[in-house]
Amino acid sequence: LGAPTSINCSCQTKQPRRLTRGVCASIYRIERFFVSKIKRVVIKIGSSLLTDEVRLTVRWAFMQRTLEDIADLVEDGYEVIVCSSGAVALGMRTIGVTPATAGLRDKQAAAACGMPLLLNAYKQVGHEHDLNIAQVLVTLGDFEDHPRFLNTKNTLHRLLAANVVPIINENDTITTEEIRVGDNDRLAAKVAQMVEAQHFVILTGVDGLYDRNPDEPGAQFIDVVHDVSDYIAATEEVSTLGTGGMYTKMQAANMAQNAGCTTLIANGNADSPISSVLRGERRCTKFVAHDQPTDSWSAWLTNRLQMAGSIVVTAEMVDAIVDGSRPISRTDVIEVSGNFVKGDVIHIYDEEGVERARGMVDFSSEETEILVRNLEIPVKQLLGYHSRAVLVEKTNMISVDDRHISWDQSSLGQTRN
Ligand code: GLU
Repeated sequence: LGAPTSINCSCQTKQPRRLTRGVCASIYRIERFFVSKIKRVVIKIGSSLLTDEVRLTVRWAFMQRTLEDIADLVEDGYEVIVCSSGAVALGMRTIGVTPATAGLRDKQAAAACGMPLLLNAYKQVGHEHDLNIAQVLVTLGDFEDHPRFLNTKNTLHRLLAANVVPIINENDTITTEEIRVGDNDRLAAKVAQMVEAQHFVILTGVDGLYDRNPDEPGAQFIDVVHDVSDYIAATEEVSTLGTGGMYTKMQAANMAQNAGCTTLIANGNADSPISSVLRGERRCTKFVAHDQPTDSWSAWLTNRLQMAGSIVVTAEMVDAIVDGSRPISRTDVIEVSGNFVKGDVIHIYDEEGVERARGMVDFSSEETEILVRNLEIPVKQLLGYHSRAVLVEKTNMISVDDRHISWDQSSLGQTRN
């Protein structure tokens, strides 16, 4: 790790930043023209770091340390994206609720009050370090819908090209339970996948992952994780202020690993909280990136935050999925669950209920049912138009056998609102 070797800016002086930044930025832009691999890091910052748990106000000392560190990273040639929690917690005082008493509507209102406070803090402290920051609010659809995914990605790249640090959060005010990501761990992992970041740093209140609750005697710290499934059982706790616990961090790390991004979970309460872990100077848990990352289309298909439904396919079709020999036709399907529409991504299970692939379906669940239940009737007669009745094309289907954990089995049979 460490600062990118390609950016050897001659301006070594860190102060005053404003004087050096312009020259550094020009040299950096010229060098970047010739260097294809920019070092890109996505940083997720949890509510408990940004917010005082009792007073529900900004932890300014943390903001100072963190933004100074980010400014150093930017100066060293990193492209930095921050996924920041804290809006809901910071807005609670205004509407008179606490983390213990707030319901969904309270949190939506609190987010509306807290978001300007949060951004103001970033803007104010960022300004002291000559950092340009921008706000990007997203919802689930910005990740799950492919055109919106590409649109969001393009905006982020444009901001990075302008040397701006995007501060991303979920637009909690307008999202409800069914259409929200819900936690910024997975949201940030999706961003890391979206921008093809090399590093994903999750700053939290603990040093990293333990093999059991860290308060239990004998808890062992885990330095390196290759396969997150080894540690699922140890990660069920949820923090008071944020919505994620270690479990969502494991999901997030798994998504990032699959996309070829190394994840580092570290305690944010430290000096230079990000660069110190990037340089390997401080204890953290490292989730090693998959050595053969999926391409961005496959990553988009498999790293889903919500699934619309599922089908169960025959054993012959499972073999065909494994060797990639043919698409899924109506004769291959045994069972259809959920309420999906054309273009949704669904689970593909074998007859034992094991998820074998994920795929983008070309028919709605209603049409799929009709096609599958009436094999003796020609497709034209069933649908009213001629069709090959291919439910999932080969190119729109990814086998998940070797690298994916079926995180959202529970979404089976879920209905669309
Ligand atoms: N989006 C929420 C907020 O800004 C935080 C979600 C999370 O804690 O992961 O407060």
